[in-house]
Amino acid sequence: MTFENLNLLPQILSSLKAKGYTQPTPIQERSIPHILEGKDICGSAQTGTGKTAAFALPMLQLLFNSKAHQRKGLKALILAPTRELAQQISDSFRDYGKGLHLRHTVIYGGVSQHGQTNALRSGVDIVIATPGRLLDLMEQGFVHLNTIEFFVLDEVDRMLDMGFINDIKKIIAKLPSKKQTLFFSATMPVEIKKLSDSLLKNPVIVQTAPASTAAVTVKQYVYHVKTENKKALLKFILDKESKPHVLVFTRTKRGADKLAKSLNADGIKAEAIHGNKSQNARQKALDRFKNRQISMLIATDVASRGLDITEISHVINFDLPEEAETYIHRIGRTGRAGYSGIAISFCSPDERAQLRDINKLTKSIEVVEAHPYDASQASEEPRKLNGQQQRRSGPRRNNSNSGHNPNKGGGGNNSNWRGRRTNDRSYR
Ligand code: AMP
Repeated sequence: MTFENLNLLPQILSSLKAKGYTQPTPIQERSIPHILEGKDICGSAQTGTGKTAAFALPMLQLLFNSKAHQRKGLKALILAPTRELAQQISDSFRDYGKGLHLRHTVIYGGVSQHGQTNALRSGVDIVIATPGRLLDLMEQGFVHLNTIEFFVLDEVDRMLDMGFINDIKKIIAKLPSKKQTLFFSATMPVEIKKLSDSLLKNPVIVQTAPASTAAVTVKQYVYHVKTENKKALLKFILDKESKPHVLVFTRTKRGADKLAKSLNADGIKAEAIHGNKSQNARQKALDRFKNRQISMLIATDVASRGLDITEISHVINFDLPEEAETYIHRIGRTGRAGYSGIAISFCSPDERAQLRDINKLTKSIEVVEAHPYDASQASEEPRKLNGQQQRRSGPRRNNSNSGHNPNKGGGGNNSNWRGRRTNDRSYR
């Protein structure tokens, strides 16, 4: 299958060529023909699968062909959960839509609204927005949705996780009933299924991989380590890598800041991005990471969904996420668009319940014991939530082993790691 087979406009084909795309990804192959036919789509696709082009290319084509842009008013609305993702979608519309003369703008909070309202006043065809700021500008009378022909809800599961459900409902209420709707979510729990049922008309279901699975291009490893040794383990791992380009996830904003500070003190160029940083600071850190001026970006989950950097070599879960599905989203930041990637998770004795949940979703996490901080034999501790100890629901166990430990039965303590061949258990 080639992009030519999808009957895309010559302008779009040449933009794709300029981007270096040679063939459509599965979600593009399966969605584009239906979207071009005017159908609603309910897509469940893994992160990094080329989902943005799957909806942006046919939308650009339909908008161009219908000469809709010659009429006044906004024609397409794309809602995304994070500012970073909204910006990336906007960049994709810019790249894919070269030569089509369709105007788009991006709207998100955390920055002055001035530039956004100016763009809206001068007239745009496509708006890419996060829900909060969009509602704000709608209430101020800068945005009217009554002329919308295309509506895209992207990363719906994430939007619901982030508490946007009421904002989304308010926005949907202002949309005309006749429109084409494209609905994407990496996972489809019942609540999301209900929302899609209420919104979509005879949708084509596009599923490119079973929901909640990790991309096969990502090799996954877990290191059992005590919390106090996580920093040392991170440095130990980084020392072995040549030119790593690493995205690290921490549970808290404070944890992200502290880790960045400590790494910088050790001469490792790292920056933290999270919700407390201004949009400008986040974008600058992201740009420095993309340009390789810094080798590590330390993020909390809010930042995890939007990041589109194709060459992240490692995703490191410094702390395991509370929700197993967040793990899948996090590691989807590496191994994108066919590149291979490595996902490393640190599991402290109080995070083993989280690891068990993650192991239910992905069966391919290999345990690495050959490292100097191995705590796989340490007693399990109850999970800590906001510094509090959570009540245990099950019997106390001594090992987190969930059936995937290749070193099962092996030792794995500080004294004997040196004596082992590291290459049989290391993540390389
Ligand atoms: P997305 O899932 O939309 O975030 O896309 C993930 C990455 O894949 C982005 O860096 C895109 O630029 C890239 N990409 C999208 N479609 C293709 C394609 N057909 N060939 C190669 N790369 C692609």
